[in-house]
Amino acid sequence: MERVFNFSAGPAALPLSVLEQAQRDLICYPGAGCSVMEMSHRSRPFEEIMEKTEETLRRIMNIPDEYAVVFCQGGATMQFSMAAMNFARQGQKAAHAVNGVFSKKAFEEASRWCDAYKIVDTKTTVPEITEDMILPGTAYLHITGNNTTSGTMYRKLPEHGSTPLIGDWTSGILGTVINVKDYDLVYAGAQKNMGPAGVAVAIVKRSSILKDIDPVVPSLLRYETMDKTGSMLNTPPTFAIYMCGLVYDWVEQQGGVAELEKINTKKSQMLYDVIDSSKLYKGIADKDCRSIMNVTFTLPDDETTKAFLEMAKKRGMISLAGYRSVGGIRASIYNGMPVEGVECLAQCMVDFEKGYRE
Ligand SMILES: *Cc1c(COP(=O)(O)O)cnc(C)c1O
Repeated sequence: MERVFNFSAGPAALPLSVLEQAQRDLICYPGAGCSVMEMSHRSRPFEEIMEKTEETLRRIMNIPDEYAVVFCQGGATMQFSMAAMNFARQGQKAAHAVNGVFSKKAFEEASRWCDAYKIVDTKTTVPEITEDMILPGTAYLHITGNNTTSGTMYRKLPEHGSTPLIGDWTSGILGTVINVKDYDLVYAGAQKNMGPAGVAVAIVKRSSILKDIDPVVPSLLRYETMDKTGSMLNTPPTFAIYMCGLVYDWVEQQGGVAELEKINTKKSQMLYDVIDSSKLYKGIADKDCRSIMNVTFTLPDDETTKAFLEMAKKRGMISLAGYRSVGGIRASIYNGMPVEGVECLAQCMVDFEKGYRE
């Protein structure tokens, strides 16, 4: 069977050369005589993988020294809780910008720990946030940089004064330039744009972490402990981290994140152009905040949507159905989706609107 164009929102398409490299190293990692999956996380070859992976990420994201980079398990969802526990005391106020499904989940998880409140609550748009909207005594402001389900993206940072800013960039990391210095914490689950499922990366400003973290917070959920142990308090997700390292190398080979952002902008524009000149397709996200990573749109009814998905499938394109609660079509066009895949989708949209059926 041939590889298809996979528009899955996550786990998502990885660059082919990354998969090929992993395949070459799978049984016998050079110099180790065994697979990365089989080596001790305390062994020299794995330590080297870990060091190199972190160094490359620091380089491609331009991460300042005063920020720790930690690799955690539990996905981005665990970060919802970990972020709250490391930045807020129990019962303290925390501002959450809710602009979609995952930001709502982040709000709900934070609410278990602190007094989270919705500073904005929207679905298809990203409103401006100004300092006067932040209530006194707020421990942090949490935003979701790219809203994976509705396909919106922050273009302008909130004005947050001295309140620490936390960004969930799970579906945008490495696909768009994130100025780490603007944040006190940036985190991302790997499986959208950075590697396979099983690991999340947190980039945290050391001096912004609470000094007196509640003693009930488990060791694994403390950024400081993870930082001091080099993300090896316990066995880390070794193979997932190794795969992320290959993706980081690939990003560097492509010319870096700024270069990929240009390509992703071009890719998304190809689809938005079709949507904007169409009578059939309707964009879900507001124009001024449309994502360059997830392009969402609707067709007039379920039957037409189904017919479109079938035609796309026949042309070798899969996983285009929108998020369960949003519906319609969602094309996730992360770094791993080549321009040809997007061209193929744009052509399919044009042909489908003209009435072709395959
Ligand atoms: C997918 C996603 C999550 C959830 O990630 P898990 O790793 O499955 O926990 C959180 N936030 C955003 C923005 C996402 O796209």
